[in-house]
Amino acid sequence: MPQHDDGRDPAAEPSATPESRLRVANRSQVLDLLGRSAPVSRADLAQRTGLSRSTVSSIVQELLGTGQIIETTTESLPRGGGRPPSLLTVSGSPGTLVGVDIGHRHVRVAVADLAANPLAEREIRLDADNSPVETIDRAAALVHEGLAEAGIDPRKDRLLGVGMGIPGPVDPHSGIVVSPILANWMDLAPGEELARRLGVPVHVENDANLGALAEVAYGAARDVDDVIYVKASSGIGAGLVLAGKLYRGVTGIAGEIGHVRFEDNGPICRCGNRGCLEKAFGGARLVELLQPAYDETLSVERMLELAQQGDIRVNRILDDAGRAVGRVLADLCNHLNPALIVVGDTMRHSESFVLGIKDSIDRFTQPDTAAALDVVPSELGDNAGVVGALVIANAAAPAHQGTI
Ligand SMILES: [Zn+2]
Repeated sequence: MPQHDDGRDPAAEPSATPESRLRVANRSQVLDLLGRSAPVSRADLAQRTGLSRSTVSSIVQELLGTGQIIETTTESLPRGGGRPPSLLTVSGSPGTLVGVDIGHRHVRVAVADLAANPLAEREIRLDADNSPVETIDRAAALVHEGLAEAGIDPRKDRLLGVGMGIPGPVDPHSGIVVSPILANWMDLAPGEELARRLGVPVHVENDANLGALAEVAYGAARDVDDVIYVKASSGIGAGLVLAGKLYRGVTGIAGEIGHVRFEDNGPICRCGNRGCLEKAFGGARLVELLQPAYDETLSVERMLELAQQGDIRVNRILDDAGRAVGRVLADLCNHLNPALIVVGDTMRHSESFVLGIKDSIDRFTQPDTAAALDVVPSELGDNAGVVGALVIANAAAPAHQGTI
């Protein structure tokens, strides 16, 4: 917990007193926060450090005097009129973050400022499942390209952190891929691999977990503490934020709703179980079911385009899929009592799918739990993974005060 000083003039105090050590600690806390944030007002600074306004005001005056921080003015006027508040930020480069989102069929990279505003972005299509080493090589090349485009030299500028998402569970302690869900990546430590290529530490997280963190930080779940983020496309997974913190489980597999048993005698799944929800209702399976009725070759993306054009067969099957996913989520909601389900990835485009989830929640969740719960599509869309990678890049940077 931050400590408050008593407001006495630090210049009048001998340098070795406990008060001055407290002052040094408070000053470094203010500098640390300013170094990791978008520009903030004095009032925000007091709130976020827990220091008194008078302490913040006195430290800010001192730091402005030494030139370690500068004062800027926001362009947007406050609601209700009045003068725009002046904002504080560190002098020089405020620091840069890098987010890397590896999906089953893409690698996306963003170089961004501390508020996750992109300075440079890159994306390529490739089959990440089959070739982990090539995927990480390509990701490293994209990061270098993005840094060059943004004019960031990691040897001179402050590169605060690199976050990476992968489409499968990662052991939160070892950083190793632990599940046959991403078979060719098993026993690999993707963060270490990318770190070796970039020369800086890389923090890794499952992509559904990143979606949850991103929506809580910048998207549909802002200021919500209990959230289930459903990542639904070819496969189905979920990220859980409970009581304001990401919940990974003991080995990082929490939230794998796609691998809940749905059919007793269903087909064998890549996870090693049989009859999994994803095997019966993941986007890849829906495409297989629809294909015989169409002359053109379908994909998950094409299926969703047809849905938006009002194709009755596609919408029927997406409604069924939404209800099935909602059935599994209903049990999870009865256990966890969340405030919000955010439906992310490509399936967010299907109204039938989202409404199907809602219907099952209303039908199978206890009424009081259902009444406290909303189901909404993702706000960040395809960027949820890379924005989540930026969130962990910031939070995992050395000496960070917060928790994730
Ligand atoms: Zn499975």
